[in-house]
Amino acid sequence: MSAPGGNANLLNDRQVDIIATRLAERLLARDVAKPPAADVVREPHSAPREALGEGIFATVDDAVEAAGIAFRQLDGLSLEQRKLIIASIRESMLEHAEQLARHAHRETGLGRAEHKVIKNRLVARKTLGIEALTPHAVTGDNGLTLTEYAPYGVIGSITPTTNPTSTIICNTIAMVAAGNSVVFNVHPNARQCSMANVRLLHQAILRAGGPANLVTAVAEPTIESAQALMTHDGIRLLAVTGGSGVVRQAMTSGKRAICAGPGNPPVVVDATANLDHAARGIIAGASFDNNIVCTDEKEVIAVATIVDELLRNMSRHGAYVLNESELRRVERVIFSEQRGPRRRAVVAKDLIGKNASEILDRAGIPCSGDPPLLVARVPNDHPLVWTEQMMPVLPVTAVPDVDRGIELAREAEHGFGHSAGMYSRDIDALSRMARSINTSIFTKNGPFYAGLGEGGEGHTSFTIASPTGEGLTGSVAFSRLRRCVLVDHFRIV
Ligand code: NAD
Repeated sequence: MSAPGGNANLLNDRQVDIIATRLAERLLARDVAKPPAADVVREPHSAPREALGEGIFATVDDAVEAAGIAFRQLDGLSLEQRKLIIASIRESMLEHAEQLARHAHRETGLGRAEHKVIKNRLVARKTLGIEALTPHAVTGDNGLTLTEYAPYGVIGSITPTTNPTSTIICNTIAMVAAGNSVVFNVHPNARQCSMANVRLLHQAILRAGGPANLVTAVAEPTIESAQALMTHDGIRLLAVTGGSGVVRQAMTSGKRAICAGPGNPPVVVDATANLDHAARGIIAGASFDNNIVCTDEKEVIAVATIVDELLRNMSRHGAYVLNESELRRVERVIFSEQRGPRRRAVVAKDLIGKNASEILDRAGIPCSGDPPLLVARVPNDHPLVWTEQMMPVLPVTAVPDVDRGIELAREAEHGFGHSAGMYSRDIDALSRMARSINTSIFTKNGPFYAGLGEGGEGHTSFTIASPTGEGLTGSVAFSRLRRCVLVDHFRIV
């Protein structure tokens, strides 16, 4: 995979260095790393003592209260100080990207550590920060109207087990850049790496002269504490990243919610595509972090005339192509329940995010080496086409022509409106699918992680809000628009 590309609006290494140097000079000039005020961090009563402090709180109430104080303190700081805080966060997260990735991999047992490093670095560099909050001015005969991006206050953020640290890093940068504070209720299976991440963020913010507890978390997160956060009076906005259950819960909470839900991203390959390029791109995309990323390619829909050649190319580029009897054996281990054709199967939880070699091993299929991806030719109605499998087992199904491919892609995507893509050199077909699939991200002729800004242009996010429409969230999504009108004056022309 390529390193994240540059973007004129985002900080590059040199800019981060300049800001970090200025920051270091300030730190020498004054001791900014003050411990949190005694009235902000309460003594724990239920959680183990060593687990608390540095943004970690025993209860939702305590975390929301501390984050409320921090929000008001941030509100009193200048924009320049806020920029230093974000630069310090980016710098610290780049420094700790690998450590956090390995911790997340160890704790959750999902994905591949080296891909989690890429995800952490990507969000540290390319999440939209303060630079995106450009005010808007309108002038005319009646004077001047100014629109500015304002914070909401304390945001309640619920995070997944699939990208635990990258979601926390990305949400923190976007939310704090917009002037908010945040309370995280993380996935219980990623609790320790998430707490370590919150502590590092807390320290980075203090080093830049920011308030304590701008980023907080509930020490022992549960579904109940997530629900308490969703209905807490001190929470102004929710940002929820996860499956359908948590999205449904947030959307009925009575609060404004930015919801990043599940997907089942299809990739269509037509007869005009460069099949060597398509095979390489699909393998790289679908095997990224063992397919647990919500935007990863989850099913391939190929025009019948090229499907065999596509599979040959995939095999040549390292994918393990399952024959029919091997597929039957793999189905038995990856699904705990099949619910019939064109229906979503229940995925075996203990194989989510595992390496392809482990899946082969469990299925009793001998294989030497470590193939990135298992690929199987299946009929259109096979459960793998309809299921968000989140493991490196990719179905390839044939259709008579590209338009039937686009139609099947729409059906298999289930209307999530999340991610999709196509390999083609037919610009009409590319445009037809981009329009009709109607997803937050559509990637043409490249791995779907390019749509996240990794080897593609543009900012990144690991909170892709399809159900509520914000798409790849950044500082703008976590801002309220406020207008100020001056009547009759300040037009200079
Ligand atoms: P999950 O839904 O099991 O958990 C996500 C979070 O929600 C966790 O913190 C969990 O504790 C909490 N939660 C779950 N049910 C809840 C309920 N009823 N009430 C309150 N809180 C609840 O998801 P996961 O396994 O951690 O993540 C994988 C899923 O998330 C996949 O479906 C994936 O597509 C989706 N996802 C989407 C995005 C995106 O940006 N759209 C990003 C990452 C993951």
